Amino acid sequence: VTADLTRAALEALDRADDLAPFRAEFDLPADVIYLDGNSLGPLPKAAAARVAEVVTREWGTSLIRAWNAHDWIGLPLRIGEKLGRIIGAAPGSTLVADSTSVNLFKLLAAALAAQPKRHVILTETGNFPTDLYVANGLTELLRRGHAVRAVTDPVSALNEDVAVLMLTHVNYRSGAMHDMAAVTRAAHAVGALTLWDLSHSVGAVPLHLADDNVDLAVGCGYKYLNGGPGAPAFLSVAPPLQADLRLPLTGWLGHAEPFAFAPDYRPADGIARAMVGTPPVLSLAALEVGVDLMLRAPMGALSAKSQRLLDLFIALVEQECAEDGFRLLTPRDAARRGSQVAFAHPDGYAIMQALIARGVIGDFRAPDVLRFGLAPMYVRHVDVWDAVAALREVMRTGAWRAARFQVQRAVT
Ligand SMILES: *Cc1c(COP(=O)(O)O)cnc(C)c1O
Repeated sequence: VTADLTRAALEALDRADDLAPFRAEFDLPADVIYLDGNSLGPLPKAAAARVAEVVTREWGTSLIRAWNAHDWIGLPLRIGEKLGRIIGAAPGSTLVADSTSVNLFKLLAAALAAQPKRHVILTETGNFPTDLYVANGLTELLRRGHAVRAVTDPVSALNEDVAVLMLTHVNYRSGAMHDMAAVTRAAHAVGALTLWDLSHSVGAVPLHLADDNVDLAVGCGYKYLNGGPGAPAFLSVAPPLQADLRLPLTGWLGHAEPFAFAPDYRPADGIARAMVGTPPVLSLAALEVGVDLMLRAPMGALSAKSQRLLDLFIALVEQECAEDGFRLLTPRDAARRGSQVAFAHPDGYAIMQALIARGVIGDFRAPDVLRFGLAPMYVRHVDVWDAVAALREVMRTGAWRAARFQVQRAVT
C-alpha cells in the first residue's frame, strides 16, 4: 500500500485484476457495497437458474426417479469431493451434510470415542459460541467425566489429558488466523486429535488439510462459498481415522446398505458413514454452484487480492478516520488473518446501522465490533475506497447518532 492512496489508483488496480470478471457471476444490487460475504455470501446468478431447473425439471418431472436419474443421492459425496479440493483434503475425506453445529457434534463425539483414556476438549475462550455450546452440551450428554477447557492460549495448555483440540481456524470476530500446521503438530506431539472449524477460512484463505495432517474438520457453506442461506455444511475426516470412526448419529443414510432396510446398523465404508438423513437437494444444488465457482478461481490470486484489500481498508480507515476512535482488532500481518477486517468502537452498532443505510453492508458483533468481509471474488478495490468514504461521512456528520440507528434488531 502506497502513501498516495487515491480512488483513481484503486480503479487502476481493478482494471489490472485478473479476478475482476468473477464479480459478474453474482447478482449484486447496484446500490450496495457488500462487505458481509463472511456472514452470507451473495447470490451467484447460475444458482438461481440451477435451483429453478432442479425444482421444475428434476423434481417436477422426474419425481422420485430423480434420486437415481439426476444422482441426487450422490450429491453429498460429489460436492464433498469438490470441497475437499478447495480445503486441500485427501480424496475421499469430505462430505456435505447437516449444519456446522451438527457436524461439530458428530466429529467431537467421534474424537472422544477414539480417545477413551482422555477427558479434555481443549479450545479457546474466543471461539464461536456454537462451538463452545456444542462441546459443553456433548459432555453433559455423555456424563463420563469429560470437561471443556476454554483458554486464551490453547497451545500452551496442551497436555496428555487432551483428547481433542477444537479450534476455529479464522476467528469470527477479529479475523485472526491460527497456524494450522504448527498447532496441529503441537497437538499431535501430546497425542491429541485436532478438530478445525473452517467456517471463516474456506474460500477465504489457502487450506492444506492433508499436508498439515489435520485429523478432523467442519465448515460452513453459506459464507465465502456462497452456497445460499442455511446452505448445508461439510465435514472432513483424514482417511486413516475413518475405518474406526464411531459417529453418534447413526442414521440410515450412513448405513453400508441403506436400501437393504436391515434392522441392525452397519456403517458405510469411508466418509459416507457421516451421513445421517436425507440430503436437502435444493440447498445442495445451490451450494454446488458456489463451490464450482470457487474451484474456477485460483486460490493464490484470491488470497493475494484479499490481503491487498485488507491492507487498503486498514490504511484508508487510519488515514480518513484517525480521530474517530476505531481500534483495529485484525492482525496487520497477512499471514495471520483471514479475509475480514474488524474494528472495535463503543458506538459500533449504530455506526454500522448508519453505514448499512448508505448501502455499505458489513455487520456488527457484540459487544463493540464492526466487521467488514472483503471477499476477493466480487469486492473491488474501489469498493474499499467508497466504503471508507461512507464511514468517514458517517463519523464527520454524526449521522450514526440518529435514534433509528440505536435500535437492536434480532440479527445483527
Ligand atoms: C458461521 C459459523 C458457524 C455456523 O454454524 P451453523 O450450524 O451453520 O449455524 C459455526 N462455527 C463458526 C466458527 C462459524 O463461523
